[in-house]
Amino acid sequence: SGAKVVVVGGGYGGATAAKYVRLFSDHGIDVTLIEPNAAFVSCPISNLVIGGHKTMADITTPYDNLSKRHGVKVVRDMVASIDPGKRTVKLASGGELPYDRLIVSPGIDFMMDTLPGMAKPGAADKVLHAWKAGPQTLALRQQLEAMPDGGVYALSIPLAPYRCPPGPYERACMVASYFKKAKPKSKVVIFDANDDITSKKGLFMKAWDEHYKGMIDYRPKHKVVDVDAATNTLKFEFNDDFKAGVANVIPNMRAGDIAVKTGLATANARWCEVDFLTFESKAHKNIHVLGDSIQIAPAMPKSGHMANQHGKTCAAAVVSLLQGKEAPSLPIYANTCYSFVTAEDVVHVASVHRYDAEKKTMLPVTGAGGLSPAANELEGRYALAWARNIWADTLA
Ligand code: FAD
Repeated sequence: SGAKVVVVGGGYGGATAAKYVRLFSDHGIDVTLIEPNAAFVSCPISNLVIGGHKTMADITTPYDNLSKRHGVKVVRDMVASIDPGKRTVKLASGGELPYDRLIVSPGIDFMMDTLPGMAKPGAADKVLHAWKAGPQTLALRQQLEAMPDGGVYALSIPLAPYRCPPGPYERACMVASYFKKAKPKSKVVIFDANDDITSKKGLFMKAWDEHYKGMIDYRPKHKVVDVDAATNTLKFEFNDDFKAGVANVIPNMRAGDIAVKTGLATANARWCEVDFLTFESKAHKNIHVLGDSIQIAPAMPKSGHMANQHGKTCAAAVVSLLQGKEAPSLPIYANTCYSFVTAEDVVHVASVHRYDAEKKTMLPVTGAGGLSPAANELEGRYALAWARNIWADTLA
């Protein structure tokens, strides 16, 4: 029988890798994708659901095409453990699968031990992160709808690196756009653990001034160290406690649990170091790690756009390795992160990253990429087209 590839996680990295291993091997390599969710729910565009401008259906795509068109075996389950020596994965439901090469793209998990109050019964259902699109996206929307006019929505941002650097500032815009329309006396307070806005600063500040004057209060250097979910109170390292109407706390992040548990998170037990030519783990042979779980190269964001390109680079390498050929060399990636500042107006940041053979890492290409001159409606259309295209490239 043919070689076997198992993929852990059907997100931007894993679903892309599964599809492209099938395509690049002319359907010669057997691919099994293991994913607990019934359908793919996109984080990109999910802030528009929170703002009331899109629905959950708009950001949901079924996995059917991966199996029907590409012959990927999609198994709805969780990988409970990986045995790198035996080259097997154990499923939560009890089964075991062998692999020749394993691709691990479990996204992020939260370092909940850094917020002790969140362990109290019910706390995690009340103070939401909504940083994995799905039930929490809708639940946060419902909390905002239930909040009386004049209430305060508090958003806390963890220290970088975290998934999607501009995402929190986009979320603040989307919540403010809802308040402007439906609850004009309400306020958005952003508590940022970082020293400053880490992405598209000038563009976001301009949008806050133009569209949401007096509504958004940005407070840098505010590191949340605990949460009292019963009273929606944020506790800080150095500042006074803050009680919110809706508290939206984005906790510190690390590689997905399964990666950490398997010993793949070699950088501070937090992120997984890989060889950028193949995405093979530096800890275990025959295991490749992609997407948000990896220790990023300089200036490389944790984005869906990046994870999609990791998926293709890794798929090409895995196919070559299984066919006894050399991996294709010198990958180049582009990244564009669009952010909605109103329901229609969008800003972007773009960059290009090239493999540096001497430094053995991906480096940003000088002079490539850039920022929008100002938020505009044309980029709003580009942003929605970007989303449709990347969902098709990943899943169709
Ligand atoms: P994910 O896409 O999260 O996929 C991980 C998958 O693994 C999940 O489906 C999960 O169920 C599965 N999984 C986890 N553990 C297991 C296990 N043990 N067994 C089986 N399956 C498992 N990026 C952009 O490029 N553009 C944007 O505009 C953008 N906007 C964003 C807005 C928000 C609000 C957020 C939160 C993120 C945004 N991102 C954006 C970032 C983007 O969502 C992530 O970078 C991307 O999802 C990373 O892909 P991934 O494959 O690493 O993880």
